[in-house]
Amino acid sequence: MTKGHEIKFYKKEINIRQVIKDQALQDTDDALYVCDINDFRRKYEIWDQLMPGIKPHYAVKCNDDIMVIKTLAKLGANFDCASMGEIKLVLDANVEPERIIFAMPCKPLTHLAYAKENGVITSTVDSDFEILKIHRHFPESNLVIRIRCDATDVKLSFGEKFGCNAKTEAPAIMLLAKELKLNVIGISFHVGTGCNELPAYDRAITEAKQLFDFGTKHGFNMTLLDIGGGFPGSDYNKFKEMSEIIKCSIKRNFPEKNINVIAEPGRYFVESAYTLICKIHSKRETKLPDGSVTKHYYINDGVFVSFANVVVEHYHVLVRHLLDDLLPKFKTTIWGPTCDAYDKVGENLELPNMECGDFLIFPNMGAYSIPLATRFNGWGPSNILYLDKASTDGGRENKIR
Ligand code: PLP
Repeated sequence: MTKGHEIKFYKKEINIRQVIKDQALQDTDDALYVCDINDFRRKYEIWDQLMPGIKPHYAVKCNDDIMVIKTLAKLGANFDCASMGEIKLVLDANVEPERIIFAMPCKPLTHLAYAKENGVITSTVDSDFEILKIHRHFPESNLVIRIRCDATDVKLSFGEKFGCNAKTEAPAIMLLAKELKLNVIGISFHVGTGCNELPAYDRAITEAKQLFDFGTKHGFNMTLLDIGGGFPGSDYNKFKEMSEIIKCSIKRNFPEKNINVIAEPGRYFVESAYTLICKIHSKRETKLPDGSVTKHYYINDGVFVSFANVVVEHYHVLVRHLLDDLLPKFKTTIWGPTCDAYDKVGENLELPNMECGDFLIFPNMGAYSIPLATRFNGWGPSNILYLDKASTDGGRENKIR
């Protein structure tokens, strides 16, 4: 790549109409993801460019599609696994155990035993209970102390559930580890997913540095700084700004450059690669006494399948249609296919009048969607079509899972 050349986030060139035709979506009632493999490659290049020297450990929980694991593994990413199932998935993709961090501070014993048997030796901890568990069951572990550092503006914070206080709790946990002759090698944090308060990273890195000093003073060989996740999946400028803050903070806090910095990006790598094509199968109209009309469309995917984030993160869906953009718009609600009234994909949307059989397109659907699908009401995960425009013959590889 030419030095100084900036790659922006990938601009989609997927021909949705062609996909609908090729896959005969008109004749089925299944929604379809289109996964653009090239998007992962671009994201990886951008990561290398903006976060040089910070090794990404892809957070498998975000999207456990085997195609993601295999593609990122080939590109050189390492992995953040949070359970035995995730570790198994990654090991089965021929990833070496040293490339995995078990980033779950509260580990069930059988999962810890599985990690031990399979050589996954680095894990996060945030309490003395977990330290005692590790001492008893896997004392050869490399331990990373997870501290709490919540950004003030995020889609979802984890601080109430995970992460000890860097000032009042972490030192005591580290001293207990020392007493038990355990091996503490670093500090981790997660500012929260979908982080919009960028200085949170600087705050957390500065707190981590203080604990590095504390650990070094007490004889630990502190080498690992894990800056967690929270990076945007489809906003290049925000990611760039974040990367500047992070690089600056690392340089200021760790000027000696003798530490190993890793991150656990989830959303960043997968959000923009997946576009979901849904079909309207039913329609209703409601009229208020003031005469205002709302159009209701019922589609073949919903919050119990791919749109859990509408409920969990209060995500406002981005929706496209294939009709003329100049047509008049109407107040619209989009419903998922199940009986549950919570199954509402979006409301107060402005869309043209559509009919049963028309399609709605949802871009940026790769994060926290596929692994969250349930079988509620007889529905289940939507199919995935993989497009790879960078395959060696310059063509495309189409496969439906
Ligand atoms: N690391 C840990 C420990 C997490 O819990 C999560 C998300 O839940 C991630 C990384 C990925 O976060 P994001 O998708 O915001 O990058």
